[in-house]
Amino acid sequence: MGKTSTAPQEQGAAATPQQQPEKKGKKVSLTTVILISLAAGIIVGIICSLAVPSGSAFDSIVIEGIFYVFGQWFIRLMQMLVVPLVFCSIVCGAASMSDPKLLGKVGVGTIVMYLLTTALAVIISIWLAQMTNPGIGLDMNAITRVEPKTTSTDQSVTDMLINIVPTNIIAAMNSGNMLQIIFFALVLGFILGRLGKKVATVNRFFTQFNAVMMKMIGLVLKVAPVGIFCLIARTFANLGIGGILPMIKFIGTVYLGLAVQLLVVYMLLLFAFTRLNPFHFLRKFLPVMLFAFSTSSSNATIPLNMETLEKKVGVDPQVASFTIPLGATINMDGTAIMQGAAVIFIAQAFGITLTPTALGTVVLTAVAASIGTAGVPGVGTIMLAMVFNSVGLPAEGVAMIMGIDRILDMGRTAINITGDAVVTTIMAKLSGLLDVSVFKNNDTESVDMAQLEHPKEPTDVDEFTAHGEPTEIGEAGSPDKFEHIDPPEVQSK
Ligand code: ASP
Repeated sequence: MGKTSTAPQEQGAAATPQQQPEKKGKKVSLTTVILISLAAGIIVGIICSLAVPSGSAFDSIVIEGIFYVFGQWFIRLMQMLVVPLVFCSIVCGAASMSDPKLLGKVGVGTIVMYLLTTALAVIISIWLAQMTNPGIGLDMNAITRVEPKTTSTDQSVTDMLINIVPTNIIAAMNSGNMLQIIFFALVLGFILGRLGKKVATVNRFFTQFNAVMMKMIGLVLKVAPVGIFCLIARTFANLGIGGILPMIKFIGTVYLGLAVQLLVVYMLLLFAFTRLNPFHFLRKFLPVMLFAFSTSSSNATIPLNMETLEKKVGVDPQVASFTIPLGATINMDGTAIMQGAAVIFIAQAFGITLTPTALGTVVLTAVAASIGTAGVPGVGTIMLAMVFNSVGLPAEGVAMIMGIDRILDMGRTAINITGDAVVTTIMAKLSGLLDVSVFKNNDTESVDMAQLEHPKEPTDVDEFTAHGEPTEIGEAGSPDKFEHIDPPEVQSK
């Protein structure tokens, strides 16, 4: 998770007035500082590459001294968060999926579709990135030494499958074995969600610990401008102007992947399952995409998304009110596309060959990352550290991507929420809860945003803790939901 805490409103006209609390000025300035630090890092780095001879005093003290140390501190701060954050956020995400009340006919189908579309998204982006080769020509080995022993790219498929199940979760955490951590977190979260209030203390612990982790991300992001400046400046000091093209190619690859997911995958799925004109859906849905693009927050988009689906697309509120908040929590196709492309980009830049098994691991971890990614700006990039960890890619790669993350976050959030809406429309149609006459009418105006309720979900990293108790796991269903689970015998007397 994590990124610049950019308020919805700061980014575009689409944000509603009632979503702009007074903190606006402060947030704008952090985003601006991050973007400036990125630009300054590139400029300073390129100047250094032209003017500073390697081995000179300036090179040793500033580039390989100050820039290197500050950059490494920033990377380590991010790495420090990965295991506790991933563990906790996946526990909470899995708990929100396993609420018995929500797991009706629509619930199971929705979750399966969410996970499958995310897996497809990663596969498409890996495939596209292997064609565009964004990292070729970028020699990151000149900057960072990578120990090839840390990569898991030479594991066989059988070993990878066996190793998903941990024998010792503490050892898995200690060694940062992401697949094992994810497996355990999914099982634990699922059980916590099923037991609900019966295990209220444990549920509350994870919910609150998750909020603490979000706060830590917020703090790390506050120092991101310095970290990003130092990393980017040192990178470009070593790579020179030649480093710019691969970055542009990477951004282009991500946007290409997002376009394929939107115009091919979603349109085909919509047509195949509903037999309705998918482009008609797209016309009606465009204002919601623009809102998500401008806010970089799935959570902030929940009210507009639900209202548009109900009023303009004809989805029954019963369906949308469950699937859209769930999607904003566990379904992140756009984020997965960025992560798939980032893996190829950074592997190429470091000259690491990824075996099919490693790519399979990337697909699995990106799907799990999607479950654990909160729908607020920048979280996808911190979760990228977990995907990199799972195949032994260096964390320096995450820091590079973090520098350009804002540009990627806007596009991927628009796709994240469109994925939620497409699956919702399909599920509504399949369960007879789609009003086709509303879908087919030509009312493509945006819903009146002034009528929308203020979103109750946090909309950026800072707000996760500002709201007091964030989404409590095990709270969504009936308080008595654990009654559906066999009570322990000893309780009967
Ligand atoms: N900003 C994204 C969202 O809210 C999450 C991410 O990829 O950072 O959907």
